[in-house]
Amino acid sequence: MTNNHAIVIGGSMAGLVVARILSDRFLTVTLIERDQFPEEAIPRKGTPQSRHIHVLLLQGQLILEKLFPGLRDQMIAAGAHLIDVAADMMWLNPAGWGVRFPSDISMLGFSRDLIDWKVRRRLAAINNIRFLQGSEVTGLLSNTDGTCVAGVSVRHHKQSHQGVCEEEQIHADLVMDATGRTSKAPQWLKAIGYQPPQETVINSFLGYGSRLYRLPSDFQADWKVVYLQAALPTHTRAAVLMPLEENRWILTKLASTCFHI
Ligand SMILES: Cc1cc2nc3c(=O)[nH]c(=O)nc-3n(C[C@H](O)[C@H](O)[C@H](O)COP(=O)(O)OP(=O)(O)OC[C@H]3O[C@@H](n4cnc5c(N)ncnc54)[C@H](O)[C@@H]3O)c2cc1C
Repeated sequence: MTNNHAIVIGGSMAGLVVARILSDRFLTVTLIERDQFPEEAIPRKGTPQSRHIHVLLLQGQLILEKLFPGLRDQMIAAGAHLIDVAADMMWLNPAGWGVRFPSDISMLGFSRDLIDWKVRRRLAAINNIRFLQGSEVTGLLSNTDGTCVAGVSVRHHKQSHQGVCEEEQIHADLVMDATGRTSKAPQWLKAIGYQPPQETVINSFLGYGSRLYRLPSDFQADWKVVYLQAALPTHTRAAVLMPLEENRWILTKLASTCFHI
């Protein structure tokens, strides 16, 4: 295999991180995303989960910091909150309220759109990464003797002067599928003659609902986060209240509809 061109399908967190890693190994990396990326930290269609609570735990911070040095400070400067998971969190668990004490285990609290936007901006500054936005991968290409995946078929959402969405075939030495839960990789592989991998579906039976609040200007507390943990099978609901950038709180409620684990 040569290392000329890698394609990453999907521009959410997995795709962004993979594109960054591949940019060290390939001459060119093309990141193909169905949506148009917003120019600011706002939601987009392809990541509906961004409207719910997201935190970055310590290991995630360390990994992202290696790939994007200074990212943590940039996030904090943009309003992300550094939260000591033992000292700053009021945690109601099945054994009662958790004991609070200073620890060196931190998490970052922010809106999911903020971290996606910050990471996208870091990628945009890397010379050999190209974004192809508003473009949907519709299938895989195989090489002439059918021994490996050699690229993708893409439909560009922007219409031509004739009012049609143009299709294109893009060749690559490596294709990474980072389309997440909606991945069509099994069907795409089948269409070019491969046995699709066996799929395992794990349903968490969780439902989420979230709402944003403005922090009162005179609000003071010795905690930053409140976490009410579910206690199955009797207490099937949970909730987390956490600060976001721009003086907001997010309240996410979770409900489990199944107790058979
Ligand atoms: C309520 C909730 C809370 C969560 N909280 C946390 C948390 O606190 N911390 C944490 O680390 N994780 C959290 N997660 C998990 C996290 O959101 C996901 O693991 C993560 O977003 C998965 O990223 P991904 O890149 O694999 O896929 P996705 O985010 O699903 O993105 C897939 C991307 O592929 C694009 N795409 C799809 N098909 C195509 C195509 N054919 N062509 C081109 N592009 C395509 C989509 O538009 C999208 O941008 C949470 C998830 C939920 C639902």
